[in-house]
Amino acid sequence: MSASDASRELLRAASLRVTDGRLALLDQMATSAGPVSLDEMLELCGDAAGDRATVYRNLQAFSRVGLISLVRGLGKRDLYEIASRHADHPEHAHAVCVECGRVECVDVHGKLPATPAQSGWGPITASLTYWGVCGECRE
Ligand SMILES: [Zn+2]
Ligand SMILES: [Zn+2]
Repeated sequence: MSASDASRELLRAASLRVTDGRLALLDQMATSAGPVSLDEMLELCGDAAGDRATVYRNLQAFSRVGLISLVRGLGKRDLYEIASRHADHPEHAHAVCVECGRVECVDVHGKLPATPAQSGWGPITASLTYWGVCGECRE
């Protein structure tokens, strides 16, 4: 199955209309090593995903149906990542490079801290972030 076939399946399963722009966007997100911002998405996709407003609207649409998740707390930018890749481990950490700003997903081994759900909090999202200098910047 090619990347686009997988993306097409995801769109259909989510009852979203299949467009070339949406396919390009999902294909790109599926191959990214970490969450990306709207601006990075525009740069990576070139013209294939459409103009800024279209890409923004599509990201919102994907987010609404749970195809992608919003990653908070890593600076001022909103970052998005594809949800299917993390289906086995929705709780994972992110590593942020303080020099180039690159963000990568990191598996969490072991248990995360308890949530405040028991004391009545909800809905809860969590983020665990490592800050450091990435391998490329250290070379
Ligand atoms: Zn770096
Ligand atoms: Zn991630």
